Amino acid sequence: MNESLIVRYGDLNLKGKNKKYFVNMANRLIKDKLSSLDVSYIFQGDRVYIDIKGEKLEDVIKALNHVSGLYSYSLFKRCELDIKAISEIALETFDTNHKEGETFKIEARRPYKNFPYDSYGIMREVSAYILERREGIKVDVHNPDLSIHVEIREEGAFVLTKNIMGLGGYPTGCGGKTLLMMSGGIDSPVAAFELIKQGMTVEIVHFESTPLTSIESAQKVIDLSKKLCAYTRGEKIIVHLVPFKDVHQEILAKVNEKYLITVMRRCMYKIASGIAKRRHILSIANGESIGQVASQTIESMNVINEVTMMPVLRPLLIFDKKDIIKVARQIDTYDISIRPFEDCCTVYVPKAPVIHPHIKETLEAEKAGDFGQLIKDAIDNTKRILIKEDTSLNLESLGFTVSEALDEYKKQEGEK
Ligand code: ATP
Ligand code: MG
Repeated sequence: MNESLIVRYGDLNLKGKNKKYFVNMANRLIKDKLSSLDVSYIFQGDRVYIDIKGEKLEDVIKALNHVSGLYSYSLFKRCELDIKAISEIALETFDTNHKEGETFKIEARRPYKNFPYDSYGIMREVSAYILERREGIKVDVHNPDLSIHVEIREEGAFVLTKNIMGLGGYPTGCGGKTLLMMSGGIDSPVAAFELIKQGMTVEIVHFESTPLTSIESAQKVIDLSKKLCAYTRGEKIIVHLVPFKDVHQEILAKVNEKYLITVMRRCMYKIASGIAKRRHILSIANGESIGQVASQTIESMNVINEVTMMPVLRPLLIFDKKDIIKVARQIDTYDISIRPFEDCCTVYVPKAPVIHPHIKETLEAEKAGDFGQLIKDAIDNTKRILIKEDTSLNLESLGFTVSEALDEYKKQEGEK
């Protein structure tokens, strides 16, 4: 074999009888994400061996970093079950990876018990072999700069180095479906990624209020969804664009300013649940994080959640903003999210929204508007779009109003 990688699955071992199903799903994802690379595989029980042939290691790692359900990968060389051969390969691995002044350590595992040396014996023999042949190098068993692992298995000996952590989680597609509310902000794409990583299939719903809000904010959602495709099964994702303007206008015109956001979010939850039901999706999800803004206190969540019986998944509930941003950069959504366009939660935000709403007052405020038919119409007129990584979608061609309309609207509002 040329340069090769061992890939280990995540905690699929806990899956009992379903393990085979999860492993097959992970293997299909690996082949899918690496399909443009000329590599070959040996799928063997709880791991995959990948011969990366002439491909660049970084390219293979980059592709693997888009497969959920993988715990880690290591570079390895393989030889026969012979201590001299193992020591020789370990020395080669040492020479390739060791930098001057660094300490090292040999670690050994021996799942195949018929090998004549035990783990301690292997560590001793291999370390001695390297120490005898290289001058001025030091072992540090507690905190080495370089670790070289020897694994003795029935099929041969493996010398491994460079443990690289994978995405973790479960193979996407194993964990059911959810409909994720995506705003175009920083949080919701990260929430989508976290759910995909945990094995879920995610469809996206976006409430767009053009021309009250700009078309560019809907375009952000399309562009963010394209980025997420890199992690999905089949590199595609379904986006539902909800025409929210009429509901939005009714809220702005009739609802007490203090309760505006609470009522708006109740309307969003109602519409999302309605679309999810039609799609036979059993949960909705969003990027809410406890305490982040007024609508995300536990009292707000309670009053807003009251409109649906569906489980509402909030993968970012206890994330710090800085950790959310870190993931947003990792999945390359951050730069899109910070494009400066307003969506319906950021435009016309009341100065003092209620932070601890009560259900009685909320229902009172909501009664001022006539939402039943508007919500039904919004669900009926929702546009469903299939997004792929290379989709070039022109929202105007779908009947959306361009941003000049927003400028016009704002001008008229200003003149009133
Ligand atoms: P984000 O960064 O995801 O926009 P946020 O911190 O700005 O989140 P809010 O604007 O209060 O928080 O929205 C909370 C959640 O509600 C979002 O994470 C998203 O899931 C959902 N949401 C808000 N606005 C919309 C919208 N226009 N369309 C779809 N979902 C939305
Ligand atoms: Mg937002």
